[in-house]
Amino acid sequence: MGVAWFEEAEWQRATQRWPDLLDEMPAEHAAYRAAVEAKVKAMQPNLRGARLALVPITIEQIEARAAADGIDPASADARGRVAADRTRAGHGVLWPPGRNDGCWCGSGAKYKRCCGA
Ligand SMILES: [Zn+2]
Repeated sequence: MGVAWFEEAEWQRATQRWPDLLDEMPAEHAAYRAAVEAKVKAMQPNLRGARLALVPITIEQIEARAAADGIDPASADARGRVAADRTRAGHGVLWPPGRNDGCWCGSGAKYKRCCGA
């Protein structure tokens, strides 16, 4: 199962386009990444052993999929559909990474010293 998130520049663009995103998530990207980490951590007990993948998505991907499906690009549904597409296409990073593996956020730091700290 893929969980969508936005890389830093894309998060800034997305929150300008769809300010309601800030109802649930902080604007500042480090705080946003921590909130994504907390969200997947909270989801994990309900997965019955299935692995989550974190997958970065873009506004263009969301708008293309929403237009194709006739749904609101600002909706969580649109983001979820893109996350599923991108995960199926192999763009997701399994969560949690190993403690000494590179962090899912692409910082280049080990997971234990980054979002997994
Ligand atoms: Zn990280």
